[in-house]
This record gives sequence, C-alpha cells and structure tokens, in this order.
Amino acid sequence: MFSPVALYIVGILSGAISMVVFGSLLSSGIPGLSRWIAANAAIVAALVFLAMDGDAPTRLSVVAASGLIAAASLAVLHGSRLFFGLRASRAYESVAFVALLVGLVYWTYVAPNVDARVLLMSGFIIYVRLLVAWTVITMRPPNRPAYSYQFVASLAVLGGLVHLARAVSILSGWEHHTQFLQPTPMNVAFLALGVLTLPCLSIGAIMLAYDRMAERMERLATIDELTGALMRREFVARADANLARAKRAKPDGADATRIAIAILDIDNFKAINDNFGHAAGDRALSHFASIVAGGIRRGDLFGRLGGEEFAVLLPSTSKADAVGLIDRLRAQIAASTLAIPGGAVCCTFSAGVDELQPGDGLASLMARADAALYSAKAMGRNRVVAALSNGDQPADPINRTREPN
Ligand code: GH3
Ligand code: MG
Ligand code: MG
Repeated sequence: MFSPVALYIVGILSGAISMVVFGSLLSSGIPGLSRWIAANAAIVAALVFLAMDGDAPTRLSVVAASGLIAAASLAVLHGSRLFFGLRASRAYESVAFVALLVGLVYWTYVAPNVDARVLLMSGFIIYVRLLVAWTVITMRPPNRPAYSYQFVASLAVLGGLVHLARAVSILSGWEHHTQFLQPTPMNVAFLALGVLTLPCLSIGAIMLAYDRMAERMERLATIDELTGALMRREFVARADANLARAKRAKPDGADATRIAIAILDIDNFKAINDNFGHAAGDRALSHFASIVAGGIRRGDLFGRLGGEEFAVLLPSTSKADAVGLIDRLRAQIAASTLAIPGGAVCCTFSAGVDELQPGDGLASLMARADAALYSAKAMGRNRVVAALSNGDQPADPINRTREPN
C-alpha cells in the first residue's frame, strides 16, 4: 500500500518553518502575513489529519483535510490581496467555499464519489491559484525587481496546472478514484506536487515581504519624508547619472545634451516659523513641495538640499525654458495660501537657474545656479534669476523681477 508519510512529514515541517518565518516578519506590519500563517496552519492540520487516517475514504479526516486544504488556498489568495492593499475576500468566494464543503460532505456520506470530490477540489484550487498569479503580476510595483513576483506567479500557475491535469485525467477517464489516496503513480505525483506547492509559494511570499521591506528602507534612505523630494545624496547621485547621459548623447539637434538646474530657496522662511510655529513651517514646506512636484515632468528630479533649500534638475531643457518653468511655479506658489489653525500662510521663493556647459560637472553647475539664487535674494526675493553666461550683459533679459515681499 502506498504510504505518503514522508511527503506529509516534509509538508508539515515546511509548513511549520514557514509559519515561524512569517511570524518573525509580523512586527514589520506588512499586510497579509497573518493570512499566510493561517494558510500554513491549515495545511499542517490537513496533513496531520491525512497522516492519521488518510486511507479511509469516508472518514471525517478526509473531509476535514480537504476543507482545510481549500481554506488554506483561500487564505493564500486573501493574504496576497491584503499584501497589495486590496480587499481580502469577495462574498461569492465565501459562498463558493461553503458550497465546496457541502459538496465534500455530500459526495462523502450521501452519494460517495471520490472523482466528484477531487474534481470539486481541483476546480476550486485552480480558480484560487490563478487569481493569486493574476493579483501578483498585475499589482507588482513597476519600480521593483520582477524576480520574486514572477516566482510567486509562476508557482501559483504551476499549482493551478497540476490541478487542471488532475481534473482532465479524471474527466477523460484516464484516472478513476475509488479512494482518496489511491496509490497510482499519477496520484502520487499529484499529491507530491500538491503537498509541496504551498511551502514553495510560502518561500515566494517571504521573498515578497522582504522586497516590501527593502522598498521601505530604500524609500527611507532616498525620499525626504516631509516633502516627498529626493534627499540630497540621492538627488546628487541621480543628477550625476543624468549629466553623464547628457554628455554621452549625440549633439544631433535634439535636446538630449541639454540639462538645466534650478536652486530654489523659500523666502524669509524663518519668519514663518517664528510667527506661526514650527508645525506651520513644516506644512508650508510640504505645501511648497507638492506644488513644485506637481508642476514638473516625470523625468525631472526634485531634491531637498537641506532646510528650505531645494533643487530641480530638468533634462533636455534650455536655461530659458527652465527659467520659464520655474517662474510659473514661483507665480503659482506666490498666489496660493495655506490655511493653518488661526490664520493663513503665504510664502514665496527665489531661484537661480543655469544650464550645463561643456566641461561642466554637477558641482560647478550647481555653484553657478546658487550664485544666481544669491543674486535673486539680493534683488529683493520672490524672483527667478538666470546665471550670467559668458558674454551676457548684467541686465540679462530673462532675469525676472517681481514685487519684493
Ligand atoms: P532667506 O529669504 O534669506 O532665505 O531667509 P530665510 O529665513 O528663509 O533663511 P534662513 O536660512 O535664515 O532660515 C531658514 C529657516 O528654515 C531656519 C530653519 O530653522 C528653518 N528650517 C529648516 N528646516 C526646517 C524644517 O524642516 N521645518 C521647519 N519648520 N523649519 C525648518
Ligand atoms: Mg530661505
Ligand atoms: Mg536657505
């Protein structure tokens, strides 16, 4: 008689190990992990039921084990949905699960039919596995490495295909089951794949959880929490990469070789803190940043150099166009007010702008934009000043002057 005890032991041990690993990740607060723990607990319980009494087709153990395996599949789907911020369950899935339990009981006690039970389980698991694959592939964050997402989706599809093959083998009359653990080579293969799918899927889910944590760490290290702008180090690294790309680009008349940079500094920001409090200052910073971020293109870089000083790098943009864009942002911010408890804050900024020159590096480009910013401050603030090019007259026509605040 075929005794799949070794398979059960592998399944039980890997289920237990997965629960321990998921448990160690719970404190990260990543959603969906408790459903994955529940899925593994259900599988471990199912395998214990099967190991205790697996040969008896009409025993409670087989019905309970099948119900637990279906519940585990559903918990995997719910965990995957929660992981991606989706609602875990759908009402019709709960109805289908209850119908499955009724079918299991009916074809076990009322009209015993192992083939019908196996088909019922396979149909349910195919649906759930394919939805897991669909969820993971469609919800993958575009900026993350695809590897672990593809791994989970492939395993889920594979699990679905195993059950599809099982269903086809029964429907075509190739396999006929009179007992749940029929010792045919095909059935042993199905059982082995079925028992091993969840541990493999769990490894994939653990990879996803680690990717989520890596994403958080990268975000913490690269994005300024208050303003959503790039932190200085990240801005400089990405700006350097942009400069290198522009220098490699062919000067074929397109703008690929051009890069403009603007350095922006909020005017009299200390007064906002002093008059309205630090919290209002923080809100003014995030208000300023949201307007700037909303007014630049996808490929532009927006970084916080420190305090209330920011930089915007504009690839494929001339100095004149950059001045125009930054001046539009200046006007937009100057015209906006930020409501705070007990009043309203209005802020302006000054900016210096320059464009990449032959032989330039980021430091020299930023130094010239910074010098232009100082001119803007000296000229009365709330204005955008272009750095003087060699040969420019001091009264550079693209320097903008606004009403001093
Ligand atoms: P100017 O027009 O010459 O730039 O004057 P300013 O007052 O904006 O410049 P100053 O450098 O004198 O003051 C900048 C202030 O910004 C001082 C600092 O306390 C404040 N600051 C820097 N970072 C933050 C922050 O994250 N939140 C808040 N609320 N204030 C900040
Ligand atoms: Mg300032
Ligand atoms: Mg400053």
